[in-house]
Amino acid sequence: AVPVICIDGPTASGKGTLAAALAARLGWHYLDSGALYRATALAARQAGVALDDEAALARLAAALPLRFEAGRVWLDGRDVSEALRSEQTGMDASALAPLPAVRAALLNLQRGMARLPGLVADGRDMGTVVFADAPLKVFLTASAETRAERRYKQLAAKGISANIARLRDDLQARDARDASRAAAPLKAAQDALALDNSCLSIEQSVQQVLDWWQD
Ligand code: C5P
Repeated sequence: AVPVICIDGPTASGKGTLAAALAARLGWHYLDSGALYRATALAARQAGVALDDEAALARLAAALPLRFEAGRVWLDGRDVSEALRSEQTGMDASALAPLPAVRAALLNLQRGMARLPGLVADGRDMGTVVFADAPLKVFLTASAETRAERRYKQLAAKGISANIARLRDDLQARDARDASRAAAPLKAAQDALALDNSCLSIEQSVQQVLDWWQD
């Protein structure tokens, strides 16, 4: 079987950074599952599909013309790397993510990404649903203040000014929606190891997970 390391956790907890760094260190593949929900949201906007039209959204998700290449993401031949990361796209993704038909449409796509020598997958339900048999599951958290601050700095680096209290409210609202939905709610798998990275550097977090993996 292909080894899979799952990194789940709330918005802006640093899952993507940690998962990508781990994949690079191990020479494994990397799955950013949130990008699939985000791309579905972008595709819906482009096609004029409402965020509650479950059947139409599931059709879009099942046939996403998505390509990951050299650190960029292409949707139907268009470079959507920036659009994919916007706060609006994150909110839209969280609005369609509760729909069971959408989740079902993305399930096989995600499982198909597990290839040798291994996969590091980040999201909300990697350890609870998509790769429930994975040998190592990490539930990554950080305080809401820390997460809002990191998001603020990311935006500032792109020349976008934001209000930090508003960012914190937005990410807490998104977490509340992700955690309270019926389908694959955000929660730690029973066998997940908890990692709070509020006071850790990226390198320290990477090292902790590598230590767990080598145990
Ligand atoms: O992780 P990211 O912020 O890119 O995810 C965007 C949204 O997609 C999340 O707020 C969540 O609602 C949804 N999502 C999900 N399951 C995943 C990954 C993301 O429901 N595995």
